[in-house]
Amino acid sequence: MKIVKTVAEVRAQVKEWRDAGLTVGLVPTMGYLHEGHGSLVTASVKGNHKTVVSVFVNPTQFGPTEDLDKYPRDMEHDSAYCEELGADLIFAPEPEEMYHEGNTTFIDMTVLTEELCGLSRPTHFRGVCTVVGKLFNIVRPDRAYFGQKDAQQLAVLKHMNEDLNFGIEIIGCPIVREDDGLAKSSRNTYLSPEERKAALVLSRSIRLGQAMVQGGETDAKKVIDAMTAEINTEPLAKIDYVKAVDGRTMQQVTEIKKPGLVAIAVYIGKTRLIDNFFVE
Ligand code: AMP
Repeated sequence: MKIVKTVAEVRAQVKEWRDAGLTVGLVPTMGYLHEGHGSLVTASVKGNHKTVVSVFVNPTQFGPTEDLDKYPRDMEHDSAYCEELGADLIFAPEPEEMYHEGNTTFIDMTVLTEELCGLSRPTHFRGVCTVVGKLFNIVRPDRAYFGQKDAQQLAVLKHMNEDLNFGIEIIGCPIVREDDGLAKSSRNTYLSPEERKAALVLSRSIRLGQAMVQGGETDAKKVIDAMTAEINTEPLAKIDYVKAVDGRTMQQVTEIKKPGLVAIAVYIGKTRLIDNFFVE
């Protein structure tokens, strides 16, 4: 498996594959890979002849007070893990390779980015759409793989793909969890042992909401209130949001119906964690 740092090298490799009639899958990541990322790589390796994993901590999707500088990095582990899973190429550019000096073009989206994480992190999706749009143009994959863990991101990128005619098949993969229920995340490494225990309140509240909806509850307020009460039982937890939205438009709903999404963002100490369930 090769690791390359420049756009030109990715393009040359992908061209070689294309000329040989091979299909290409792309898995965009910020690295520090865990089994959540691994499930996307495995899906891509199964679904395509060749798989490109991008490892890039994208500065434009971090707000000024967020964790860009302390975001965990471990290229040695990431490359060994990708190799083990059967990926073919890692694209690990430096920020200057992705954003040349004087870069003034960004991809901005309305409506779908107005709620949930878009509300708490106002410039986040502009950064996500821009970097993923760039990766789509650099790699030109047949398929791209994203986790349902970042449910709003998945909806936003599906929409961007339609709006901007990228013509890529966007594949959403289920949330991978730790044995005790916590959704896997590179940011879990920030948690102290005490916070790690407290963080279980996220998956507990998700299971509670999901059971209510599966039991036939459609009143969004009742589900949100129950989930909120559950999270508030944990003294280290501070709610950013608990919301029910339409699964396609990401706009808030009062009645939960298909396709729907119930999503939460909760601070455990200083660490902001997210979780969700789809109603499909
Ligand atoms: P990140 O490196 O956090 O930007 O994530 C890269 C990709 O991996 C995104 O599409 C995420 O949704 C996905 N991902 C992260 N954590 C998980 C998880 N626990 N389960 C499934 N996918 C995940």
